[in-house]
Amino acid sequence: MSRFANKTAVVTGGGRGIGQEIARALAAEGAKVAVVSRSESSCGKAADEINAEFPGSAKAYAVDVADHTAVQELAKKISEDFGTVNILVNNAGVTRDGLLMRMKEEDWDTVLDTNLKGAFNTVKGFMRVLMKAEDARIINIASVIGLIGNAGQANYSASKAGLIGFTKAVARELAGRQVTCNAIAPGFITTDMTDELPEAVKEAVIGKIPLATFGNTKDIAEAVAFLASPSARYITGQVLAVDGGMTM
Ligand code: NDP
Repeated sequence: MSRFANKTAVVTGGGRGIGQEIARALAAEGAKVAVVSRSESSCGKAADEINAEFPGSAKAYAVDVADHTAVQELAKKISEDFGTVNILVNNAGVTRDGLLMRMKEEDWDTVLDTNLKGAFNTVKGFMRVLMKAEDARIINIASVIGLIGNAGQANYSASKAGLIGFTKAVARELAGRQVTCNAIAPGFITTDMTDELPEAVKEAVIGKIPLATFGNTKDIAEAVAFLASPSARYITGQVLAVDGGMTM
């Protein structure tokens, strides 16, 4: 099945973890993918790995998604390099956890600037090209923490709840141009981000997941591929929780 033949996708945070798996899943079904991440080495390595499996499908671009001007320039470059962009996946994200009592202003700003403003920056950069593209999709990777909150993650919860509100507003604004915009709210997924958690925290989390296990990056990539596919053409403004039942 080649659901994404002749389609072009941009995946931010594509250098590792969930983003790399999303980029791989789209390339596996025929998409040309711009793999975007903060560091040249990370997106370069991910693109090399994807090209080794699906030759000529991936190209690496390093940018800080929080940098508005740099993202506008990059969007122009990617649009020129690929000719069109059909799918934008806003996946770049960071955590700077800590209880509010100890949270520094810098920790708040870094998380909001990357996770929320980063999506504003890319949507601004790519919206014109998306409005002209066929089957245009925006998919934002939020989090269950944006739905239910979490002690020690006020910055992250606010950024992901904001991303969900942003998703719905963008869905309404761009519906007239047949661009859909949806969010996925992953639960706990095994990546570098969750590897940082202490074992005791991981065990406590698993106790709250009805399916009693962490998810993997493929679980999220499959959901993104569905929302990006023609099968999801009539779905917009939704939040799909892929979380082992955590937030049912
Ligand atoms: P990782 O930490 O494994 O990877 C994050 C990716 O984002 C990296 O490629 C990183 O670039 C990139 N990135 C971070 N900051 C920036 C920036 N300012 N500009 C450009 N790229 C940036 O994260 P995950 O794969 O675990 O998470 C991916 C997304 O899924 C995030 O939005 C996260 O919040 C969300 N999520 C994750 C969950 C989980 O359990 N893992 C649960 C719920 C949501 P580089 O490689 O160059 O450092």
